[in-house]
Amino acid sequence: MKIYVVSATDSSEFTRLKWSFTRSTVIALDAEWKPQRSSTSSFPTVTLLQVACRLGHNSDDVSDVFLIDLTSIHLPSVWELLNDMFVSPDVMKLGFRFKQDLVYLSSTFTQNGCEGGFQEVKQYLDIMSIYNHLQHKRFGRKAPKDIKSLAAICKEMLDISLSKELQCSDWSHRPLTEEQKLYAATDAHCLLQIFDVFKANLVEGITVLDPTEINVGLKGILTGSDYTGKIVMVKLCKATDVIRGMSENGQNIANGVVSRKTTLNTMPMDENLLKIVRKYGERILLKESDRLPKNSKKKTRKRISLSTVNTNKQLLCSEDWQGPPPWDSSFGGDGCPKFLLDVMVEGLAKHLRCVGIDAAVPLSKKPDSRELLDQAYKEKRVLLTRDTKLLRHQDLAKNQIYRVKSLLKNEQLLEVIEIFQLKISGNQLMSRCTKCNGKFIQKPLSIEEAIEAAKGFQRIPSCLFHKNLEFWQCMNCHQLYWEGTQYHNAVQKFMDVCKLSEVNKMSL
Ligand SMILES: [Zn+2]
Repeated sequence: MKIYVVSATDSSEFTRLKWSFTRSTVIALDAEWKPQRSSTSSFPTVTLLQVACRLGHNSDDVSDVFLIDLTSIHLPSVWELLNDMFVSPDVMKLGFRFKQDLVYLSSTFTQNGCEGGFQEVKQYLDIMSIYNHLQHKRFGRKAPKDIKSLAAICKEMLDISLSKELQCSDWSHRPLTEEQKLYAATDAHCLLQIFDVFKANLVEGITVLDPTEINVGLKGILTGSDYTGKIVMVKLCKATDVIRGMSENGQNIANGVVSRKTTLNTMPMDENLLKIVRKYGERILLKESDRLPKNSKKKTRKRISLSTVNTNKQLLCSEDWQGPPPWDSSFGGDGCPKFLLDVMVEGLAKHLRCVGIDAAVPLSKKPDSRELLDQAYKEKRVLLTRDTKLLRHQDLAKNQIYRVKSLLKNEQLLEVIEIFQLKISGNQLMSRCTKCNGKFIQKPLSIEEAIEAAKGFQRIPSCLFHKNLEFWQCMNCHQLYWEGTQYHNAVQKFMDVCKLSEVNKMSL
């Protein structure tokens, strides 16, 4: 392992970096960033990007580790080179949960004149997946599923100790200490070594293990005398190698380097690597939502809710319906209580219509929150829902959204009548189309008129012909209703549900 600190694009180290990219089919990636106070609403700034390149196809080939100093190098000048490597189909990228690093890296580059940052990493292999795969091979279905740190995996597989203290050191401090450089380089280089173990396992096909060996760690398996002949030994990262690598002058190595116009002119992967990539390769793709810091999302939400709800006490009852109703004419309403019911309380809509309340349902079948809130706002309706997530939206005033607590339709109806202090009189019952929420025509139709009106879309049962019934038609959907048995049963039902008195009944 040779370590190069790359702090400028006109340096020999940078030339070496470009050259290494063209000679490597496996590149390990890691990033360090400046520790950040949790209250900050942006992503941490990545100060160091470690790139470990395996030169050649074999584990005993030389590797170059580059510490790209993002605090000093001109970021727009390295963006293309890095991006080409990220998306190159010829280079397998190794990382340890690199998605987070990529998010921070992308944000850092975006803030420094590289609009869009980085979108994706192709042909990616996560060390965590590799480790889990090896565990699965060892233990079968009983493989322990705990999430390990890279340090723990390194210790177990390579017997390398990564210093926790250095991991948490200040990565924005310059110059980096020798310990920091060594740590940063090892962090990336160990990914190559873990991959070597993985590759050796796949290639040599060690799948049958003696049950008595089951408690032997991976390192034990690798170094155990029974197995050494069968697999490639992993070269452990020796401290002396590292120190030798660091004291070496990068300029000597960089002599005679080929500089190309295109940023990457890679060599293809060998057959074994191609097989691994096809089987285990992943793709990291950053979505729009990945580009927003979680902190800032949380913060925004908190800020909004604090401006509407001032005290804890109010927060407790924030679900309750408060304030002047949107139909209150002194607040610009038209004086009639109106509701909009989301799909979770659709049944309640019909019940409300049966007692004459204007109860609309969403315009589309599967509305998103935005459509619902928009419709409620435009039509000055109170949104009734059981979805607590909708309450978090602050687009509607508190008097325009209410979470129904009861589960049964009859109880929901009573709950709404009580909360909104609706006055239901007997003559309101069955005064609205239950199908579409439309209003009925002013005057009832005679049977002859009803038959005429129903032509073409609704059949009036002939048994009704000789009865002296009143027919009502919906002005909106033209559905005809009549005072049959069903009607009287329904009226009786809602008299009971709404606990309407006999006096009200008389006025029916
Ligand atoms: Zn109708």
